[in-house]
This record gives sequence, structure tokens and C-alpha cells, in this order.
Amino acid sequence: MPPVSKPLHDLTVAELAASLKAKSFSATEAAQHFLTRAQADTGGSFLAFNPEATLAQARAADERLTAGTAGPLEGVPLGHKDIFVTRDFPTTAGSKMLEGYRSPFDATLVRRLAEAGVVTVGKLSCDEFAMGSGNENCAYGPVKNPWDTRRVPGGSSGGSAAAIAARLVPAATGTDTGGSIRQPASFCGITGIKPTYGRASRYGMIAYASSLDQGGPMARTAEDCALLLSAMCGPDPDRDSTSLDVPAEDFTVALSADLKGLRIGIPQEFFGEGLASDVRAAVDAALAELTKLGAALVPISLPRTELSIPVYYIIAPAEASSNLSRFDGVKYGHRAKDFTDLESMYKLSRAEGFGSEVKRRIMTGTYVLSHGYYDAYYLQAQKIRRMIADDFQNAFKLCDVIAGPVAPKVAWKLGENANDPVADYLADIFTLPASLAGLPGMSVPAGFGAYGMPVGLQLIGNYFKEAMLLNVAHRLQQATDFHLRKPEGV
Ligand code: GLN
Repeated sequence: MPPVSKPLHDLTVAELAASLKAKSFSATEAAQHFLTRAQADTGGSFLAFNPEATLAQARAADERLTAGTAGPLEGVPLGHKDIFVTRDFPTTAGSKMLEGYRSPFDATLVRRLAEAGVVTVGKLSCDEFAMGSGNENCAYGPVKNPWDTRRVPGGSSGGSAAAIAARLVPAATGTDTGGSIRQPASFCGITGIKPTYGRASRYGMIAYASSLDQGGPMARTAEDCALLLSAMCGPDPDRDSTSLDVPAEDFTVALSADLKGLRIGIPQEFFGEGLASDVRAAVDAALAELTKLGAALVPISLPRTELSIPVYYIIAPAEASSNLSRFDGVKYGHRAKDFTDLESMYKLSRAEGFGSEVKRRIMTGTYVLSHGYYDAYYLQAQKIRRMIADDFQNAFKLCDVIAGPVAPKVAWKLGENANDPVADYLADIFTLPASLAGLPGMSVPAGFGAYGMPVGLQLIGNYFKEAMLLNVAHRLQQATDFHLRKPEGV
């Protein structure tokens, strides 16, 4: 293979993997290239580096490339959302609570990707414990959107999305509880997929809301997401009891399948009053492109879309209040100094370690689970959650894939919602339904809207239909060039 003509940071995961196998450059050169770019970044995407560990991983990759024992992604550099625990790097979950924490083990997804050959460049910023929609809730500062540095990158996987858009890494991991892969991907003009709940192990992913949390890949192209997802999925019965007994799949095989006859469901509730006209225009144009490729648009209804906000903002905080009780100053993380007894140690450690949004969720969650309110809130939310899942099954009788916007508007300005947490919650309206139903969902660049900001098209599939989503996204990317465009100065 001849030497590559593009700068390394403009190569996709697929191109990097092929070039590394062809020895156009070494894994060490690639790691150094991305490390240098990432360390010079001023957008706040990264929370931690460990150049020695990165270069040691790269050298090991080079040895395997030479020995002919290379994995499918051997030597490909990647960043991990700081919600995944890693042995070689500190893990904070974006919280002061875990400042300086070093895990004795790697999360399953981190391990699986390492086994496929990836090299970790560093840990990526996120909202504290993945609670947020703008990456503004990170205890270590906000992340800037490379398309407009005055705007948020989305959240909670904002560092991952911004780093990919700024070409600091070709790909990253993200997690999605209520939209945290899809919405930042949309806001930063990249591609991301959340698989079916249970397809990817949650082991070593710091828990937010366990019945919703799911990890997945973020990259510039659907093909890259397919490559990464193939390495990430698969059962993990000994470590995650909710991981499903569904074998790993090669998600690249159906990427180029014909879209002729594909029925794309258009939920009327996703195109109502709340949707900004610029986002609607970009989404409509992307849908028109898909019809040119042979797909048919079918009107459908997801009648409980609006209810997904109160339902999610009851269930997720309820689970969070339980999950986060482990941070008590004893076993993990921050311990206050000025305590007088055990109770004051708990109280002070938690008061000092958690940020305000996390505290708000713990209080809400504790409230909805408390005696007397459990039936009125938590149980009721669980029932509606089931109805939302049923609504999707009814819709999938009429269509193969569901499409719509990812978010009602483009990325907002940093600080714009600072005193209005509910404004952030409301912006999750289109991503929450698929999360509550445990369905796979993805965001693929659809164009640009107001202020020149990227707009994503959301694709939602039935359970285990990730390959279909990736196929639709890949065909769209063959017909459009939104995923190839770069923010100014990158
Ligand atoms: N914005 C949602 C929340 O704050 C979703 C976050 C996520 O998916 N991790 O809970």
C-alpha cells in the first residue's frame, strides 16, 4: 500500500485499520499523532492522559501487526468516555467524588476493544455520572462544541463527540441512558449508535440508571460504528446479569444492502410544534434522500412520546439514587475531613463530592421511591414505560425502521440553561422513548441548521436490528457528505 495521502487524523477507523495492516505507518506513529493533537486541545474534551500507557499499548499493537496476530482494529487509536473504568487511566465519571480514582480492572467494553487491538488515547469528559444533556455538569468544566466554541457539544458523552468532530480521535466510546450517545453525536455532526439494551455489557460502566444504561460507539461514519460495535457486543454472563445471550455479530456485512422496499416510519409526535424549523428542514431533506434510495415513508404514531419525559425523569433518578448510595466516603472516592461521627462523614463526603445536578437527581429519586409516593410516581412510571414499549411494537407492524429528529433544536449556548434544568430535560424528548423501550437507536449527520450547527437524523430499530440502522445510515452517507465536513480551523 502506498503512503497515505491524507493527514492521519482525517482517516476513518476503517482506513486506519487497513493502513496499519498495510504498514503505511505504525501504531506507535498513529498513537503519537493523535496524542499530540489531543494534548494540544483547548476545548476541554479530555480529562486524562497517560502517554506512557498509550505508547506501550501502541508498541504491543505494532508487535502483533508484525507477528501477524493482529486483531481487526489493531493499532486504531480511540478515546473512552470517563464513565468506563480503566486500569491504565484514572476514572472520574466527571465527578469530584471520584477524583484520583484508579480502577483495578477494565470495563468489559474497554477490554473487548483492547482485544480487537485499539489503543487508548485518553479519557473523555462527560456530564457528572452521565447526568446531563450539554456536558455542562462535568465537575472539571464544560466542553466546547468544535462547530461553535460558544455552544455545548451535547451530553452526556460530550467529550467523546467533540473530540471526534475536532479530529482528536477517530472514534470513542459513549454511553446512552436517555440519549447520551445520539444527542451529542447530533450536536457535533458525527455518528453514534446505542445498541439494544443488554447487547453490550455494562460491567465497569459506572452505573447511572441500570435498567437504561447502554454503551456504544461514536465515530464519523456508520461503517466505523459497525466495526466498533462488532467488537463491543456479546454476552458477559459472569459479570453483567442483564447482558443478553445473543452472540456477537459482524455488523459490517449488511452495510451496503439495498434500501428498496424499506418502510421508514415517521412518528407524527416527533414533528409537532416543539420541533425547530431548521432541524425539521434538515431531517426532511435526509428523509427525501432515503426515499431516492428506494425507501418508503410511512406515517406512524408514538402516542406517549410526551410522557417519556416525566416517566424517564422518575425512573432514572430513582435508579440513580440507589446506584449512587455506594459513594459514601468509605469504599470509594472522596472522604470529607471535618467529620465528627460516621453519619457526618457520610453527609459531608456526599455534600462535598457531588455536584448540584447529581444531588437534585438523588433527592428526586429518593422522593419517588419513598413510602407513600412509590405507588403514585415510581410504579405509575413503570406502567407507562411498558406502554411506551408496546407503542413501538405496534409501530413496527407498519414499518421496519423509525426515523425522526434527535433533538428539537441545534446545540444551545453554554450557560443558556444554567438556571433551568427542566429546559435540558425537555430537550431529551425524542431520545427518551427508545431508551425506555430498550431499543437500538442511532444518530447520523443529516445536514446543518441554525447558526451553521449540525443536525442529526435519528434512526430507531426494533430489538437487535442494529445492522439495519447501520445499513440505512451507511447508504445515507454514501449519498451525502455531511459526515465529511469539518468545523472551521480543524
Ligand atoms: N440527558 C439525559 C439525562 O440527563 C440522558 C443522559 C444519558 O443518556 N446519560 O439523564
